[in-house]
Amino acid sequence: MIVWNNSVLVKSLLNKMSTQPRPDALSWDECFTQMAFLIAQRSKDPATQAGAVIVDDQNVVIGLGYNGWPRGIAIADLPWERDGDLVNTKYAYVVHAEENAVYNTSLLPRGCRIYCTLYPCGECVKALIQVGIKEVIYTNDKHHDEPIWVAGRKMLELAGVTVRQYEPQYRLKLEK
Ligand code: ZN
Repeated sequence: MIVWNNSVLVKSLLNKMSTQPRPDALSWDECFTQMAFLIAQRSKDPATQAGAVIVDDQNVVIGLGYNGWPRGIAIADLPWERDGDLVNTKYAYVVHAEENAVYNTSLLPRGCRIYCTLYPCGECVKALIQVGIKEVIYTNDKHHDEPIWVAGRKMLELAGVTVRQYEPQYRLKLEK
């Protein structure tokens, strides 16, 4: 069950008694950002759970992704280590959320926007630009000064992709 910290469900029930439209329905930005955080919870990565959602100009979701191994590889077959030789760390193997969202679309996402829990890295940025993503909406920019992210920012700017930060108004909390 999804519980919202601002008690949206309770307000929703109260609003059912009204004939007025709900004033607190989620905005598209809030909705897709929350979806990005939700799909991130599919990730098996013990350190970082990232999610991404691609939507078209009609606000229809056409792709979802989270960080994990390439398809068909068992979770236990590769390391989640962050230190050591590259071949013994997760960095050599993990497919990022943004790239997975692109791979998981059944349509070419030309002109679409992508919602990401994290600012995309330079490698994902290349993929996003190449498939025609026109807007990137991210929440967290914790890698801001790392070279791959600096390069990513530069490419997005040069390619004319709109980038903006969105801070969700609600905190997604999953409870059993
Ligand atoms: Zn990436």
